[in-house]
Amino acid sequence: MNKIIFATSNEGKMDEIRDILKDMNIELLSLKDLGLNPDINENGKSFEENAIIKAKAVMEMTGEMVLADDSGLEVDYLDKAPGIYSARFLGEDTPYSIKNQYIIDKLKNAQGNDRSARFVCVVALAMPKGDIITRSGIIEGYIANKISGVGGFGYDPIFYVPEYKCTTAELPFEHKNKISHRGIALNAMKKVLMQYIQ
Ligand code: IMP
Repeated sequence: MNKIIFATSNEGKMDEIRDILKDMNIELLSLKDLGLNPDINENGKSFEENAIIKAKAVMEMTGEMVLADDSGLEVDYLDKAPGIYSARFLGEDTPYSIKNQYIIDKLKNAQGNDRSARFVCVVALAMPKGDIITRSGIIEGYIANKISGVGGFGYDPIFYVPEYKCTTAELPFEHKNKISHRGIALNAMKKVLMQYIQ
C-alpha cells in the first residue's frame, strides 16, 4: 500500500483529511504518527507558497510522498485578514473563543455583504523525484453575528454559510467535509494521486 504523509500536526484538520481521503488505497500518516515535530518557517506570501514550503520540507526530511495544506479565513471587511496568518492571529495559543469574538466585535458596524468572508485551502503534493502539484478550494460565506456551533475547529463557529443557514461548526462532520475549502481541494488532489499510486 502506498504511504503518504500529511504534513500537519493540527488534529482537527487531520480528522477531516482522513475522512475526505478514506476511500483511497493509501496509508495516511500525520506528523504526529511519525513522531515528527519539524520547525518549518512558513514564510511564504500566499497559501500556495506556504503549502509548497511545508510539503517540500517534509518530503526532503522523509523521502516519502508528502501532502500539505495551507488554509485560512479571509474577512473582506478586515482587508482579507487573518488570511495566511489565521493560525497565528492574536497569538498561536490564544483560544478560538477569543479570536472569534474579536472578529465579531471588529465587524460590529458591518452589515449584509460587508460581512463577506471565505475559507481558502491550497493542498500541495511533493513527490520524492521533485514534482510539485497544487490544487485549491474556496468556500464563500459571511461572518456570523454570534458564535454558534461546537463542530469543526478554529473559525468554524463564526463562518456562516447562507445556503445551509448555519455556521460550518453547526454542520455534521461529513457534510462540512463535502463542501469545505479543504474538501474541494483534496477531492481535486485525489484525482492527481490516482495517477501516482497503484
Ligand atoms: P495552517 O495550519 O497554517 O494551514 O492554518 C490554518 C488555520 O486557518 C487554522 O489554524 C484555522 O485557524 C484556520 N482554518 C483553516 N481551515 C479552517 C476550517 O475548516 N475551519 C476553521 N478554521 C480553519
